[in-house]
Amino acid sequence: MIPRYAPTYTFGDLQKGLKLSFDLETESKLIARLKSYYDVRHVFLFGSGREAMYAVLKAYNRPGGVLLPAYNCIVVPEAIRFAGYRPVFVDIERGSLSMTAENVEKSLSPDIQAIFLTHIFGIPCDIQNILDVLAGKDILIVEDAAPAIGAEYNGRVVGSFGDASVISFQSTKIISGEIGGALLTNNETLAEKLESLKLEASGPEKAWTLFVKALARKSVTRRNLYGLAQFGYRTLLGEEMHEIVSPKVRQPKGFFSRCPSFASALVLLQMDRLGWNLERRRNLALLYRNELSNHAKVSLPEISQACNPAWIQYPVFVDDKLAFYKHMQRNKIDVTWTYRYSCAESFGIDGFPNSLHAAETIIGLPTNPFITDEQAMQICRVANQFGG
Ligand SMILES: *Cc1c(COP(=O)(O)O)cnc(C)c1O
Repeated sequence: MIPRYAPTYTFGDLQKGLKLSFDLETESKLIARLKSYYDVRHVFLFGSGREAMYAVLKAYNRPGGVLLPAYNCIVVPEAIRFAGYRPVFVDIERGSLSMTAENVEKSLSPDIQAIFLTHIFGIPCDIQNILDVLAGKDILIVEDAAPAIGAEYNGRVVGSFGDASVISFQSTKIISGEIGGALLTNNETLAEKLESLKLEASGPEKAWTLFVKALARKSVTRRNLYGLAQFGYRTLLGEEMHEIVSPKVRQPKGFFSRCPSFASALVLLQMDRLGWNLERRRNLALLYRNELSNHAKVSLPEISQACNPAWIQYPVFVDDKLAFYKHMQRNKIDVTWTYRYSCAESFGIDGFPNSLHAAETIIGLPTNPFITDEQAMQICRVANQFGG
């Protein structure tokens, strides 16, 4: 079975990473590498992207409303609440899956202190038009580039447009360190606050336990084992195509933590392959787009000319999501239903029809860089048999 996601590290990386994780310079080497890649002055590593979001809001210290798209990862509005702010949802546009400048403008109020510009699935949002709407306003602009390492907007890498940006090294992202995330900023005031705030972060996960988890994930996504693992997962947890989640109200223990050295090592090792990684993902996305463009039951995302996405998955819209999902599974292709919820709906707020539509119809085709063109063609052949 072809997995929906697969870690981007190799078995060789795991071995080298374990050794590197005991090298005291690994963390500072990764920070230096990210500083030069993003051309930013300050990089702070944390245990996850969501913790980096929490950190920047804490450092800003002006509790109030935070704008964010309602079609989003639930951990984002959760982190906003943990930091003492209030999530204020903005509906997305159907085709681009992102907030429009118009919707952002309509959502502004004197209570809004910050906004997350989310590059969902690695697709840059409408950055310039949103920045125009926010120009001259006293609002902290944070790019949520968690899934978008390497994505470009007007030829410039995303993560360099806001006051601060968040990237993630979680297992489904562009570069997987198994866990981990970073905050990037050129803002000296924020950086100073973050310098002291980071001392409050709890100890990171131990290299050995993380190594074992990463090894297990890498092993389980091998094709021969994956079908069995997926079957077990489906049986135990079920596979709903649409759900309403219950957001966490209280900050879990150990929520604000440092990035494990093993994760830093894995990411550092993979920075050398980032060009190849992105090129593979873009080739797969192009192939999906070409092969599925005439499908009667599958429609494709609308990507603006300004964007060169990074693609943690290739999202398509299918009205009968469950039937499509089952069809692909029967043919040994695992696709993802991420995200199968609207955050607004999960927070009990109505009136976000496009976010709900996305939750009900999005299927993600795999774009991990180890997928071959032949496998992608097979995925398209199977997809094209659906409803035809
Ligand atoms: C993955 C993701 C996050 C959270 O990153 P973690 O490292 O898992 O906390 C936040 N926002 C978006 C859009 C994401 O895709």
